[in-house]
Amino acid sequence: MFRGPLDASLLKKARDKGLLDINLVNLRDFTDDKHKTADDSPFGGGAGMVMKVDVIAKAIASSRVQSPKSKVIYMCPTGKPLTQEKVKELVKEEHLVVLCGHYEGVDERVRSLVDEEISIGDYVLTGGELPALVLIDAVARYIPGVVKEEASVANDSFHDGLLDYPSYTKPEEFAGRQVPGVLLSGHHAEIAGWRRREALRTTFFKRPDLLSKVELSEADRASLTEIVRHG
Ligand code: SAH
Repeated sequence: MFRGPLDASLLKKARDKGLLDINLVNLRDFTDDKHKTADDSPFGGGAGMVMKVDVIAKAIASSRVQSPKSKVIYMCPTGKPLTQEKVKELVKEEHLVVLCGHYEGVDERVRSLVDEEISIGDYVLTGGELPALVLIDAVARYIPGVVKEEASVANDSFHDGLLDYPSYTKPEEFAGRQVPGVLLSGHHAEIAGWRRREALRTTFFKRPDLLSKVELSEADRASLTEIVRHG
């Protein structure tokens, strides 16, 4: 499940350049029976299998020995939501250990072995692998050099609390729809002003909840008043 995404595009380039080092750990390597059992049926009965705390504890301990500064994260639906703020915080860590559950989840006692629990959204997936890849991808984008032009990261949705501004490329006209004239003007200050206004507009209409957390300038407030009045 990991090889495809980690071996393609920007993540592959980042790994090739040594900007990102990823080590896949198989929990079965920490079992001690001949069937390499990493899960078992739940006490009290019920559906699904539960991943074993003793196996996970050994795997986590081995990661902590190799890198004492590890931050251990368990991906789970009951964790704190993954946000861009959280991503910016995690990129400062030297080493992240990302634990993926499977089946019904992990033995409850695993929670005391990890430093943090993170969810990628209010839905349930079959395993923690895709959430772990989402986390890795989001964090990797913030490592300097992974995304070629760092300015593009700074302009992205959520970076400064707003959604992104609209982008266009050739052709200038498509099915009767023109690219906004200001973008063809070559006037940098006007383009920057337009983009900021459009980011405010998009956020106001699509995610008004985000606006209360953004630091707004006088000009931003004036733009928003205009947007509220005239749409
Ligand atoms: N019974 C659990 C869900 C288990 S899903 C519950 O209801 O909370 C199996 C595994 O998938 C979990 O252990 C977790 O690692 C992963 N997973 C599923 N949904 C996830 C989400 N929204 N965010 C992060 N990890 C998730």
